[in-house]
Amino acid sequence: MAKKQYKAETKRLLDLVIHSIYTHKEIFLRELISNASDALDKAYYTSLNEDLTIDRTKLQIRIELDPVLRTLTIIDNGIGMTKDEVEDNLGVIAKSGSYNFKKNLENVDKQEEVDIIGQFGVGFYSAFMVAEKVEVYTQSIRESESVYFESTGEDGYRIETLEEKLPVGTKIVLHIKKDEEEEKYSEYLESYTIKRLVKKYSDYIRYPIVMDEEVKDYDDKGEVKETRIETKTLNSMVPLWKRSKSDIKEEDYQTFYQSKFNDFQNPQKVIHTNLEGSISFDALLFIPSHVPYNFYSSEYQAGLQLYSRGVFILDNAKELIPDAFRFVKGLVDSPDLSLNISREMLQHDRQLKAIASRLEKKIKSELLGMLKTDRENYETFWKNFGLQIKYGTYANFGANRELLEDLLLFTSSRDKKLVSLEEYVSRMSEDQKEIYYVSGETIDKCDKLPQAEWVKEKGFEILYLVDDVDEFVLSVLHTYKEKTFKAINQGDLDLSSDEEKEALKSKAEEKKDLLTSLKEALKDQVVDVRLSSRLKSHPVCLVADEGISLEMEKVLAQMPDANNQVKAKRILELNSDHPLIDALSKVDSDKVSSYAKLLYNQALLIEGFTIEDPIEFSNSMAQLMIDASK
Ligand code: ADP
Repeated sequence: MAKKQYKAETKRLLDLVIHSIYTHKEIFLRELISNASDALDKAYYTSLNEDLTIDRTKLQIRIELDPVLRTLTIIDNGIGMTKDEVEDNLGVIAKSGSYNFKKNLENVDKQEEVDIIGQFGVGFYSAFMVAEKVEVYTQSIRESESVYFESTGEDGYRIETLEEKLPVGTKIVLHIKKDEEEEKYSEYLESYTIKRLVKKYSDYIRYPIVMDEEVKDYDDKGEVKETRIETKTLNSMVPLWKRSKSDIKEEDYQTFYQSKFNDFQNPQKVIHTNLEGSISFDALLFIPSHVPYNFYSSEYQAGLQLYSRGVFILDNAKELIPDAFRFVKGLVDSPDLSLNISREMLQHDRQLKAIASRLEKKIKSELLGMLKTDRENYETFWKNFGLQIKYGTYANFGANRELLEDLLLFTSSRDKKLVSLEEYVSRMSEDQKEIYYVSGETIDKCDKLPQAEWVKEKGFEILYLVDDVDEFVLSVLHTYKEKTFKAINQGDLDLSSDEEKEALKSKAEEKKDLLTSLKEALKDQVVDVRLSSRLKSHPVCLVADEGISLEMEKVLAQMPDANNQVKAKRILELNSDHPLIDALSKVDSDKVSSYAKLLYNQALLIEGFTIEDPIEFSNSMAQLMIDASK
């Protein structure tokens, strides 16, 4: 059969795998053992659901070394692969992600490339780091022919069906590379190395990893009496999550996480927890240290792995984790779950619900702990997954608000740093009644808003909201610790003293005619034109009446099904202390209408809106300059 070529992106990836990315070539063994272990899990699980008889105690992974032929062979009696599966799984790398992969590989530098690849988990292909040729013999648990696959990595692969029927499972033969100056590949043919690597990376694998070893018996004189072959189990088989925490090193968790969840980087946080009682479980959870490449696509599989007494039941059990925490990877092992639970049953399982609710609380408390004691780390987490927490808060009309509100961070006007709502409230002075916020495109734009000036000067802190979802989050929260949220550019901002209020009132009386003509000129654009109690040095601003805010109007207008019907009620506010007010009072009445539009357009620009007729705006400005020079 003719050799097939790997797809272009596969080739590029292979090249990287083989020649560069992993500094520790030895991890190839971990990857192949982990695949074998998954295949055993799948075999057992399939047998439970399809009435096949499989004796779980016979499931194992065998390693064979032949230093003469320079082969390292890994054999499992797991689920095996059909011809199509071999083609799909081994012929195309990172199958589901290949499109993204290609896209991502354009215009990135080497380091980024490595990071991207790490996110795909190169698994099987890591064999080519140490092998010049890889052969795979496999027989699927299903009725099908036995299959042979062979590849030397870079120049394609060959797949054929075999005449003879192999036992169910997969045998992978690595033809180990010749030694080089800086890399002694021969060490992978020594049983000592293999034993060390299994201990280091795969000790927790729940199936025996066995290898034959020569054992010599000595007589009294110290001479070899007999040489026997003994089959030794190399791993302790205690799942990591079943071991006592004090015996587990940080590295153990990291290795486990990387191989189990195909991440190239260490997790940011490990949560290892258990519960004994009416419901018992062990859980091992991880928060990734970066956003998975497909996190915001439908490809991303949220949920935890489910085990019962160390036996794998299901992958991606979404029911175990609330959507706001969908970035959490990990597994739960509970003896209270039935082995042949189906996906449909998951949703109604009471035990599972009880576990989910425990996990939810645990994740929250761990995150809160991180926020309080390890701020830097929390901010990294927030940068990665804060948006998810915000969406989670907003989702279902705020059903999860209690769970999530303490985890939220926003940027503060005080130092442009992130602040939690609890911190904000604890810093509020006695005369501050509400939590102030304002939305804008960037922190800088929020900070420069005319409406922000006086609030800041009064010593009040403002939350700057720069994500589209932010205002929606606050709208479902409505209050935090009984303090209401108040947009500084909406409704009345009760900042003034009684005397200031009086002064404003009489000024408004004095300028009544002007305000009336401005209002008349802008009657199609605004519901009111009034003197402002929130401006300090700036002449004009736009605010919204209670209800829809200016920012929400913008966000809603961007929605795919926007009908542009939902509009804020706009109010134009003028600074009563600004010289502009007196200047306007002196303007000829035929010009007031044109000036009103200028002011309104300025206010729109400040708020980040586009103006309806920029040409008219520009011409009016030009006219103004001409008039001024007369
Ligand atoms: P990953 O394990 O991340 O999916 P791999 O490249 O390691 O990526 O393997 C690709 C796929 O090939 C696996 O998902 C699995 O379906 C299949 N596979 C690999 N090794 C085995 C094996 N020993 N037995 C059965 N299937 C296997």
